[in-house]
Amino acid sequence: MLKASEVPLLEGYDLTMFDLDGVVYVSGRAIDGVAERLQRVRDAGVHPAFVTNNASRTPEKVAANPVKLGVAATAADVVTSARAAARVIKDRFGPGSRVLLLGGAGLEAAPAAEGLEVITESGEAVAIVSGYGPDVLWKDIMRAATLIRDGLPYVASNTDLTIPTDYGLAPGHGVLVRTLADFAGVEAIVAGKPARPLMDETIRRVGGDRPLMVGDRLDTDIEGAHAVGVDSLLVMTGVTHLAELVAATPELRPSYISPDPAGLFEAHPVPEVDADGAQLGGWQARVEGGALKVAGEGSDADWWRVVAAASWAAPGRDRDRGRRGSVGATGPPRPDERR
Ligand SMILES: [Mg+2]
Repeated sequence: MLKASEVPLLEGYDLTMFDLDGVVYVSGRAIDGVAERLQRVRDAGVHPAFVTNNASRTPEKVAANPVKLGVAATAADVVTSARAAARVIKDRFGPGSRVLLLGGAGLEAAPAAEGLEVITESGEAVAIVSGYGPDVLWKDIMRAATLIRDGLPYVASNTDLTIPTDYGLAPGHGVLVRTLADFAGVEAIVAGKPARPLMDETIRRVGGDRPLMVGDRLDTDIEGAHAVGVDSLLVMTGVTHLAELVAATPELRPSYISPDPAGLFEAHPVPEVDADGAQLGGWQARVEGGALKVAGEGSDADWWRVVAAASWAAPGRDRDRGRRGSVGATGPPRPDERR
């Protein structure tokens, strides 16, 4: 169920955890107005943290991307899955523990920041940590796989199955995690979204009693927020489109929806839901014979809210789970298409 906020959303929270790709920028280009909006968040006394599953870059390098786009950010505002993975090891095995790494530069810097020692010989390692690293060698993957099979605990920075690249969407670190885990017959301990450690580490490091996760992806950002019991704002500027939103199972449903991060500064009404579907702000949405139908006129934000609410409440939905219904559109109609 969507939540209501009668006041501008930001007033209810004291920490905003922003995903980066799809929320702050897409393919290196800033989302419209994002620099001003992030500044407004800071001016309101709410701390913005930037939370990334990508473990290949250091927090300094991660912060450089928003800075290039005019968004104020420092390394201290950034929490990576590499740092969360190091924290997992410190919590389980204690400070000073020795770890082996399989990944890129961002992975190397994190253990020292948590007081762990990186070693290259397997003898005294308490665990092995893997992260995305485009230059990782196959011989190192083979060595890691055999160590894990022989009982060395395995911590994965994240399980993202895809990563956006210059070649298009490509296999992400999660593909390697799957390969290692399958080979060794173990389950990896996961640090990144949607697992708890990265969210917990962000709240602990950046501070805040009332955190709000702002993300574009249901199975990392939104599911991660559910995992730690915090509210979430889904923005439609990234990878989630209509088909994913209406098909979302309960653990993937956000608390709030907005076409873009401007939704932080707006109130969030919720649709009225009854046997006829969902109504809000001039829109009516209903699911009929497996097809979603939307009529009326109103704001884009309310359009997303009614289609989500009508779809999630549709009778027989659980029975039809996994069967994707048809939708007559991909997003709110442009003003010139409205009748
Ligand atoms: Mg994203």
